[in-house]
Amino acid sequence: MSTSLLYHGFGIHGYQYIRTLYRAGAIIFCIIPNAFSLRCPVCGSRHVKRRGAKTRMFRTVPIGSKSVFIQLPVQRIECLSCGVIRQVKIKFAEWRRSYTKAFERYALALSKHMTILDIANHLGVSWDTIKDIQKRYLTKRYKRPRLKNITRVAIDEISIGKGHRYLTVVLDLKTGAVIFVGDGKGVDSLKPFFKRLKYSKAEIKAVAIDMSPSYIAAVLDNLPKSTIVFDHFHVIKLFNDKLSELRRAIYREAEGPLQKKVLKGTRWLLLKNSYNLNEQKNEKERLEEALKLNKPLATAYYLKEDLRQVWSQVCKSDAETILTDWIKKAQSTGIAMLQKFAKTLAGHAFGILNYYDYPISTGPLEGTNNKIKTLQRQAYGYRDMDFFKLKIFGLHEAKYALVG
Ligand SMILES: [Zn+2]
Repeated sequence: MSTSLLYHGFGIHGYQYIRTLYRAGAIIFCIIPNAFSLRCPVCGSRHVKRRGAKTRMFRTVPIGSKSVFIQLPVQRIECLSCGVIRQVKIKFAEWRRSYTKAFERYALALSKHMTILDIANHLGVSWDTIKDIQKRYLTKRYKRPRLKNITRVAIDEISIGKGHRYLTVVLDLKTGAVIFVGDGKGVDSLKPFFKRLKYSKAEIKAVAIDMSPSYIAAVLDNLPKSTIVFDHFHVIKLFNDKLSELRRAIYREAEGPLQKKVLKGTRWLLLKNSYNLNEQKNEKERLEEALKLNKPLATAYYLKEDLRQVWSQVCKSDAETILTDWIKKAQSTGIAMLQKFAKTLAGHAFGILNYYDYPISTGPLEGTNNKIKTLQRQAYGYRDMDFFKLKIFGLHEAKYALVG
């Protein structure tokens, strides 16, 4: 061991190596400050007098499986320039921490690959110590995300935990970064976001949302110049939900066991895209049999297949024609569910067709939501909601984004 190894291996300089102790399986490096490095912590003057010292231990990066500590008599000085009597600053550790900066950096590096519990076990410290290190880092980095250059965002809510607890998440569609996490859902949850956005002077060009009235109102009120794009996955999902309801109603009213038998188990077949039907399992035949049996179901099914076409045109005007035709067709079926859905689409056509001006969706947010759910499963009960939210901000950064 040498003073230079102390510097290169443990990031400690301005101190002199004295000796190494081996105690209870741990390695302890004893060091003292270089005499010339003594300064007043308040005014920086070198004109100081020693006033006793207190020995402190700092945990630093381990050597293999051995814990390593730095033992240092922390000097108290009297400043002859400004008159204070105080402990000098320690260069290699943050104020009041019992571990070194190198230890913090190491714990953060491990955080990209391991859970908090793994790291705590590996480094021989408590779960809370690692959590605190992560929290300070994440706070510094994500407390105030820069919003100025953001132009396209997606907004959606995610349910977390077992209760009906929601978070509203806003994603920057350019970088894939989460830029806001709000408590609850609906307009209120977004208020702080819009406030910050206004302050940042960002010019949001387009916003992807689902068709819920509260989001529409929130965007119209707060971002009147931006273009609303209704997420097409949500539109299709909404139709699929209605289709399932229709099937259920038909099933309930089906006469005789044969009809019931044919309809049974067709729910997933109805929702599948036709080109995904499995030939080996006779899915196509089974579906056709069910559709033959029931005209309204068949009508709804084929309209579902048509609906997707709205998003696969080469230009907006073609899409508009397709959408208008679809609405007319659905209205003329005489099937209440389809007529109602046609009305919904007619009322939201503008935002559906805006897809051709801004081909965005909340799809990327779906991936983030899945990661949030994984994060939540790995976490040991996120009683600390701020910490959980900070972790969400960190999600897109690393492959294992500060897991657990
Ligand atoms: Zn001073």
